[in-house]
Amino acid sequence: MSNTKAVIPGSFDPITYGHLDIIERSAQRFDEIHVCVLRNSNKTGTFTADERIALIHESIKGMTNVKVHQYDGLLVDFCEVIGADTIIRGLRAVSDFEYELRLTSMNRKLNDKVETFYMMTRTDYSFISSSVVKEVAQYDADISEFVPKHVEDALFKKFNKR
Ligand code: ADP
Repeated sequence: MSNTKAVIPGSFDPITYGHLDIIERSAQRFDEIHVCVLRNSNKTGTFTADERIALIHESIKGMTNVKVHQYDGLLVDFCEVIGADTIIRGLRAVSDFEYELRLTSMNRKLNDKVETFYMMTRTDYSFISSSVVKEVAQYDADISEFVPKHVEDALFKKFNKR
């Protein structure tokens, strides 16, 4: 039987415990997980792609079947390049649903051989998003419950807080 591969795409600007939970749980179900940092045209980044990738690498230490990539094209094309037919996304609240429905429908139109699976967030993490964490980090709040230590340090450095 061939290797099962899944792609977890996102902006990861920066990675949070919410993302990590989805990555960890997926890594237990698939032989290979490919985390893909994509450019999101609707969001201006706080961290550069290289910085985001470095923060992800540090966060997934010890997860031997997880790899990290950057891709500047269409997600379905990336899936084809690495030979994966599954995309995994996390779902937090109902507010995620509409955007995800549009995204998945478009990806299916572009390539109907690639299937998208959704994982429900853990309730503890349902309110965590990169943007909310960044917002509170700017005011020097305690964010240690939401992101790993090295991400916390990078955020405070970025915002000249510590
Ligand atoms: P995008 O800009 O593509 O939405 P994000 O980096 O914000 O990228 O999110 C990547 C994926 O991780 C998305 O599927 C998103 O729903 C999921 N995700 C983000 N935060 C959480 C969380 N706290 N719990 C579960 N899934 C999450």
